[in-house]
Amino acid sequence: MQFGARDLEVRVVNPNPALDLVQETIGELVFRQAGFFRLDLLETTRVLVPQNERIGNPTFYSMLEDLGISNLPDFSQMTAITFQDVVVSHEPFSDGLLFHELVHVEQYRRLGIANFAALYVRGFLNGGGYHDIPLEINAYHLGGCFEADPANLFSVADEVSKWIAQDRF
Ligand SMILES: [Zn+2]
Repeated sequence: MQFGARDLEVRVVNPNPALDLVQETIGELVFRQAGFFRLDLLETTRVLVPQNERIGNPTFYSMLEDLGISNLPDFSQMTAITFQDVVVSHEPFSDGLLFHELVHVEQYRRLGIANFAALYVRGFLNGGGYHDIPLEINAYHLGGCFEADPANLFSVADEVSKWIAQDRF
């Protein structure tokens, strides 16, 4: 079954706004990544760590389960999840983890929330798993380039724009 991005109206929100989240201090990590991301993205993105519970699954999961889709990735088992400009992490940040999530923030900014969410779900359903989602492939690819050579600067915004122009998401 193939899904079009517009077939699914999905929302990405923190499913549990009552979660006790604290702001993580990541200044030194961000400093090392400053050359890859736009300054306004680095200034406005918030990084939060839940203190007690783990984050729950998003609200659109119930809709997908009604369609018979039951193998969706469990948010509570993920290392980190990005909601637009908020990164929630279940573990302390490494350079690689933060870079990966900041690529998702750029993707959200370029695509818009609804489109990002629809493309994410479509990628999952069409590919059959988390690692087949083009938004993830893009984030892992750029993160891999950064980790392989942190001195070799490139613009994540330009790379994400290229993928959008080539309709790769
Ligand atoms: Zn990811």
